[in-house]
Amino acid sequence: MKMQLAEIAHAVGAINDYEQWANVDVTSVAFDSRHLQPGGLFIPLTGEQDGHQFIQSAIDHGAAATLWAQDLATAPANFPVIQVANSLTALQTLARYYQTKINPRVVAVTGSNGKTTTKDMIAAILGTQFNVTKTYANFNNEIGVPMTVLSMEPNTEILVVEMGMDRPGQLDFLSKLVTPDVAVITMIGEAHIEFFGTRDKIADAKFEITHGLSDDGAFVYDGDEPLLRERVTDLQQRQFTFGRQDSDDLYATSVSDTATSTSFTTNQWPDLTFTLPMIGEYNVKNALAALTVANIYRIRPESAQRALATVPLTKNRAEWLTSQSGAAILSDVYNSNPTAVREVLGAFGQTPVKGRRLVVLGDMLELGDQADVLHAGLADALDPQTFAHVYLVGPHMLALQQALAEKAPELPVTHFATDQLADLTATLQATLTPDDQILLKGSHGIHLENVLAKLVAPT
Ligand code: ATP
Ligand code: MG
Repeated sequence: MKMQLAEIAHAVGAINDYEQWANVDVTSVAFDSRHLQPGGLFIPLTGEQDGHQFIQSAIDHGAAATLWAQDLATAPANFPVIQVANSLTALQTLARYYQTKINPRVVAVTGSNGKTTTKDMIAAILGTQFNVTKTYANFNNEIGVPMTVLSMEPNTEILVVEMGMDRPGQLDFLSKLVTPDVAVITMIGEAHIEFFGTRDKIADAKFEITHGLSDDGAFVYDGDEPLLRERVTDLQQRQFTFGRQDSDDLYATSVSDTATSTSFTTNQWPDLTFTLPMIGEYNVKNALAALTVANIYRIRPESAQRALATVPLTKNRAEWLTSQSGAAILSDVYNSNPTAVREVLGAFGQTPVKGRRLVVLGDMLELGDQADVLHAGLADALDPQTFAHVYLVGPHMLALQQALAEKAPELPVTHFATDQLADLTATLQATLTPDDQILLKGSHGIHLENVLAKLVAPT
């Protein structure tokens, strides 16, 4: 982006006299002084720490100017400062201003799982015919969304934004901030149920993504989810469903997979076979969501097919790696929740293997008082014919251990406490052979990535 300070000051409603700096050029924004690019505007946010204390670091990194939400007496002398009442609000207001100026079409993606993957697929497909900017990594909250908006090149035609939420009202806010032309809900799961209580309330909160949807916009959603089907009846905008059932507008008519890819055909283009460079039938649903968006923007299906075949995988999402001992590792250590574990176990259990399939599962966090029931419920997904050994990590996984002892007593299970990751690593290193396959999945807070790093890296 490129804006002069006067324009920024005007957009955010500066409360100081900034005239002397009116012509200063700003080419980017940053709230982390260490990531500030020369010419950037520093945005001191107040979270666990007060960003204002890092102003010197921002200047050292080449800041052109800073927002300031404190007394001007504490601001750096002789440095371009825009004083505002609240720097987060100013960031969001500036993003709104910049979006109006660039005026791209906007696709917003939410859902309990699959947001990042679907966002990446949509961006890859739309990128075949449009200039697209997409959410960087997982920047999906009330800071990440405005940062994404402000990261747009001026020639951006379509902006694809991921929107996360962990409480009611959050998507209402984000949706009204970027006023999407297309809103997508990938699926409703149990993530964050601790804060919501029921899936019904999760569905309410996800549905808020339609609150800012433009009048001539479109809503794209998982048609196999009754909680969504029952909510769309009052929605005025166009609606499109994708899923596994022939009542959906777009559905897969056949799915097949190899150890590293998944192929499918659809009802809408029976002669085209789509191939994804990733495993998991759940990714077919993510791709169907993306193809539905492709339809809205009239992308040729052959272009979409080519884009999906090479869509880049976001790190740590169901990624195949090789251990020191030559075993194949399916790493999905980035996050975890009941639906995601079932889906990944399903995919992992189907890939051909010479030796054993081993499973490491870490606690699924933020499930509140339903945690034990939801952990124990995974016992159904762990068939002793398919899996040779299950390693569990964390206190909630004791509930699964107990359930497995009752339902599948022949399946060997070993439990580790969260501070015993080194023991788990040593156990795995001692048992893995080149013919084995091992799945690692857990909530980020369990830090299975540390086990992964040891299994992969030279010891
Ligand atoms: P986050 O909330 O952390 O941003 P996300 O919604 O962006 O997550 P992804 O990063 O795309 O989700 O995928 C994370 C994991 O969720 C995948 O590795 C897989 O285990 C699971 N997953 C992805 N898509 C689906 C889906 N459609 N249904 C069920 N599980 C899925
Ligand atoms: Mg994500």
